[in-house]
Amino acid sequence: MSDEYLSDTELKQLRGILDEQLKEMMVLSRAALHEVVEVRTQDADPLDLAVSESNREWTLRLADRERRLVSKIKHALERMQAGEYGACESCGQAISFKRLMARPVATLCIDCKTEAEQVESHKRVF
Ligand SMILES: [Zn+2]
Repeated sequence: MSDEYLSDTELKQLRGILDEQLKEMMVLSRAALHEVVEVRTQDADPLDLAVSESNREWTLRLADRERRLVSKIKHALERMQAGEYGACESCGQAISFKRLMARPVATLCIDCKTEAEQVESHKRVF
């Protein structure tokens, strides 16, 4: 079923999206980092400090999420260069173009993803 695999045009389109996202993330994390520094240098009024503390926590958490997304995007771009992009990392099946357009950093096909999520939710229950 070779038609399930990505065409050059589709690959180029996805690569464009990933490049855009990576650029956006770089700008965002730089902005977040800047904010953290600003909060730290603010005056130490107890009330302000409490607000700054929760702001900082939020900013750091956001930055952490962004870092993870950035590494996912880089991973996707590396796989693209290696010619592995679009294949499920678990079973090797092609991930559909539709799914990749919705989530270009996806490394698992929908079946493996669903399975992984079920395992995750079981872990949480027990
Ligand atoms: Zn799979």
